[in-house]
Parts: sequence; C-alpha cells; structure tokens
Amino acid sequence: MEKTSRIPLLGMAPDDIKTVAAEAGLPAFAAKQLLQWVYQKGVATIDEMTNLSKQARERLSERYEVGLVSPLAEQHSADGTAKYLFPTRDGHHVETVFIPDDDRGTVCVSCQVGCKMACRFCMTGRQGFQGQLTVTDILNQIYALPERDRLTNIVFMGQGEPLDNLDAVLAATQFLMADYGWAWSPRRITVSTSGLRKGLKRFLDESPCHLAISLHNPFPEERAALMPAEKSYPLAEQLELLREYDWTGQRRLSFEYIVFGGLNDSNRYARELARLLQGLECRVNLIRWHVLPEDDALAASSSMPLAEADATRMAAFRDYLTHRGVRCTIRASRGQDIDAACGLLNTKNK
Ligand code: SF4
Repeated sequence: MEKTSRIPLLGMAPDDIKTVAAEAGLPAFAAKQLLQWVYQKGVATIDEMTNLSKQARERLSERYEVGLVSPLAEQHSADGTAKYLFPTRDGHHVETVFIPDDDRGTVCVSCQVGCKMACRFCMTGRQGFQGQLTVTDILNQIYALPERDRLTNIVFMGQGEPLDNLDAVLAATQFLMADYGWAWSPRRITVSTSGLRKGLKRFLDESPCHLAISLHNPFPEERAALMPAEKSYPLAEQLELLREYDWTGQRRLSFEYIVFGGLNDSNRYARELARLLQGLECRVNLIRWHVLPEDDALAASSSMPLAEADATRMAAFRDYLTHRGVRCTIRASRGQDIDAACGLLNTKNK
C-alpha cells in the first residue's frame, strides 16, 4: 500500500468530521455533505465531492483523504465466491470474502490481522496475532469491495475475534446502520465470536446486530482442546448469560458447529447439544470441516486428528436436532478451491 500521511475520513465519527469541516473553513452544513459522501455514496476521493467548492476540496486534500484502498489481489472460486487481499493502514494484510447466493450477497469481513484465539481448526489461529484493524481498515473491506453494490449482508466471520477488537467492530457497524450511511438494518449484520468474557455482555448490551457463537463441541474438555477460549470463558457460562436476553424478537442468536468426521458428529454430541440449548430461542448452523493445508502432515502424529465430515452423518445430526426442537441448517460450503471457506483464511506470508 502506498504510504500516505493524510488522515482518512472513512472511520471518522460525525463530531470529528464537523471539526474537519470547520478547520477547512466550510459552512456547518458541509459536515453533513462530507458524511454523506464518505458513508453513503462511498466516493474514493475528495475530488469527487462535487457539491463542495474546488477550493474547499483542495484545502481538505492537504490533510485528509477518503481512505479507500482497492484490494491488492483477488481469487475467484468456481462457485462464484471471491476472496480479496486488502492492505491495512499499518502495512499488514487481511483477507475478505464475498459470497453470492441467488439474490443475496454476503461479505465476510476480518477484524484483526491474525488472531489470539488459537482455535485448532483455523488457519488464522495458526497465524498468531499481528495486530488490530482500525475502523477504517474494517470499513474499507466493505466500501472498497468490488461487489459493494450487491451486498445484502455483512458477517464478521473473517480473520480475528470481533470481541477482541470490539470498539472498532461496534463503531464500524454503527456507521453502516447510521442514517447518514447506508441506514442498514442491524438484522443484516452478524457478529461471530468464540465467546470472550470481556466483550460478550458489552456486545449484547450495546449492539442490536445478530450474534453467532462458535460452539463446535458441547463437552467442555473436548471443546477446550479445539478452542482454548473455552478455558477462560466456558460455554456453560456464556449460555447462562445468553439466557438473560430476549431472543424472541428480531435479533437472532445462532450457534456455529463445525462438523469433524468421527469427532463431534455422533448422536452423543447431538443429544448434549440439544440438552444445552433446550428452551433457548436460537438456531444451529452445521458447517463442513475442510482439512487445512498443513493438516495432512500433522494428522498422523496428532492425538486428535481432524477429518472431514460425512454428508450422511451431518444430515443425521441435523435431523436429530430438528426432531428435538432445535432449528438446524447445514450450511453450504463456499470457496474451498480458493481457500476462502471457513477456517482457511491466512495472511501470514502476505
Ligand atoms: Fe480466531 Fe475465529 Fe480462527 Fe478461532 S476460528 S482462531 S476465533 S479467527
């Protein structure tokens, strides 16, 4: 990414934009125009803000820029999924995935460079943590996405743990929902988490967006072996907290369950899952596991080799839950051929 010392307007709060406008000697109403150019129209340059005078645009451009940066690389899957490599403002890189599906267009956004959570099944977890994304970095993945005009949904399911960068994630979602922005309904935005003690309650209290919890195994010890986060904030405690909130309205609670062949796909797991979720208004999404590029070599020596799930067993798992009153769907796997599917994002060497 070309280094620039100019300050990005994308990611700036309305009060800060007011200050920018005042400093540039613009009338008070120009702050509103600036907000709309940046957050609603999504222009790439200050020069495109044509209802500001040329002189005003030049003055603004001395210190500021919009902050949109195009992807550096892209890959396209046979199934229509696209993966983009975006630079961050501090010189790192993240991956972002666009998933078309009939009349839906979903972008899977990253919120950190790498991740601290070290989930065993995830290439981002193996990358380790290299830094937080700013609000600008997060919004850039949406506003500079080539398919921006086709977007219907945004999911924070890319690289990183959203609750570990909650200020930036909350701010980014607020810009998307704001009247001066896209005025999106929070029902079109889902934030996914492995469950962080510091953050889950705050998210529940402050955000109207949908919540997805990465569950993957209903038994604490086995879950901890897959997801170290279980040790610091056990699923049982998360469920206790979640039961304090009303899920019968429009905000949706879902649980992501990656199905590993022979590991968590039997009736024993489905039974325990149904027991844990009993009476909680929610849905379960079953996701097919993909062998990670490094795992073929690791599998033989590992005490817990991870294997791809069998479609028949996944269907039986879904039916078991459905018969016990838990809404359950098998999620179509997308973009596996370009390493864009669940758990495959990694920018370690980029
Ligand atoms: Fe982090 Fe999510 Fe990967 Fe776990 S699954 S390591 S929380 S990016």
